[in-house]
Amino acid sequence: MSHTDYDVVIVGAGIVGAACADELSRRGLRIAVVAQDVIGSGATAAGMGHIVVMDDSEAQFALTRYSQKLWQELRPELPNDVEYEQCGTIWVAADEEEMDEVRRKHDYYGKRGVATKVLDAKALQNLEPNLRAGMAGGLLVPEDAVLYPPCAARFLMERAQDRGAKIRLDVSVAEIGEGQVRMTDRSKICAEIIVNAAGAWSPELTPGLEVKKRKGHLVITDRYPGFVRHQLVELGYLKSAHSVSADSVAFNVQPRRTGQILIGSSRQYGAEHKEVDHSMLVRMLERAQEYMPGLSQMSTVRTWTGFRAATPDKLPLIGPWMRDKSLFLATGHEGLGITTSLGTARILADQITGATPEIPMEPYLPSRMVKEYAHA
Ligand SMILES: Cc1cc2nc3c(=O)[nH]c(=O)nc-3n(C[C@H](O)[C@H](O)[C@H](O)COP(=O)(O)OP(=O)(O)OC[C@H]3O[C@@H](n4cnc5c(N)ncnc54)[C@H](O)[C@@H]3O)c2cc1C
Repeated sequence: MSHTDYDVVIVGAGIVGAACADELSRRGLRIAVVAQDVIGSGATAAGMGHIVVMDDSEAQFALTRYSQKLWQELRPELPNDVEYEQCGTIWVAADEEEMDEVRRKHDYYGKRGVATKVLDAKALQNLEPNLRAGMAGGLLVPEDAVLYPPCAARFLMERAQDRGAKIRLDVSVAEIGEGQVRMTDRSKICAEIIVNAAGAWSPELTPGLEVKKRKGHLVITDRYPGFVRHQLVELGYLKSAHSVSADSVAFNVQPRRTGQILIGSSRQYGAEHKEVDHSMLVRMLERAQEYMPGLSQMSTVRTWTGFRAATPDKLPLIGPWMRDKSLFLATGHEGLGITTSLGTARILADQITGATPEIPMEPYLPSRMVKEYAHA
């Protein structure tokens, strides 16, 4: 790669780097991407691929909903191997307290134009007969979808390549900044703008970034077509999996097009090794079996782990890094980066090209971190 040929160099070829390459090349910029392994590796290879609207905060809702609509627009162009299925989510309520949360969520989503349906115990049992009897009900969100993330990343990257983007894989970046990307093999690329899209590894390249690794486990079963029909998530997820510090597990299962069932999920800080943690795995599977006892009879095919890139306020970092005017961030997507990759790419490209974003970009600006620390 010649060092003067690019407007933007993106470090990272996960779904966020791929979406940024796609969007920036669509806007006519000359793009290079560098990454240390294959396209769609990192958390993208490990993620569940649930395209989900979430409401932890207004900013999280805005980005997830915006991104979900972008996925819906892209859907006719997605190749078959992306396995996009609009199966919908059911948030499962185990008791009456969680039914209160169902009604709150129904109201919140409804006021913001997202259709949902409150399910009583019988309706839930009809839609998902393999859930344990005695659940209180749930909330169906029909527009939520699932896809296969590595193939989605590859599709986005190939579109960028068709527009002239250059991809350099199997190269480890040692340092970025001041318009330069320096590799560990001592080669370098220069560009006006560098984008750090290195996910959970982004702080290694941008010291001072408040992004921590948050480990997750997933299990995939053999083929059991029809056993699970929607992405099923326990509403207790909001109490447990989203707790900011403690290790946690939650019932979260996904039907794949193959008939396989993807079983999650766990969250751990301070566990930086890739190996499967058996105690976490047992906790996660026990939780899944509490909700769907039939899972205990199933054969599993593979278990793996991945690292989410977590920020203190659970929102991604999208925009210029205050300490270096050539550097932009597109990282910190925690458990929502498959969903929010498309919205992230739009917002980042708007910032770089001076266009007006379609949703307010302020909540995602890295500069908020400086403000937060100043008030901490
Ligand atoms: C168990 C689990 C389940 C999840 N489920 C969902 C879900 O259902 N829905 C959802 O929306 N999100 C989900 N996520 C989150 C989602 O997977 C991530 O947010 C998303 O994949 C992040 O993409 P990324 O491109 O930012 O990072 P990554 O996919 O991690 O990519 C990082 C890239 O940076 C490159 N890189 C890093 N360091 C260097 C270096 N020094 N030199 C060169 N290249 C480098 C890597 O090679 C890689 O290409 C889940 C995550 C996990 C772990």
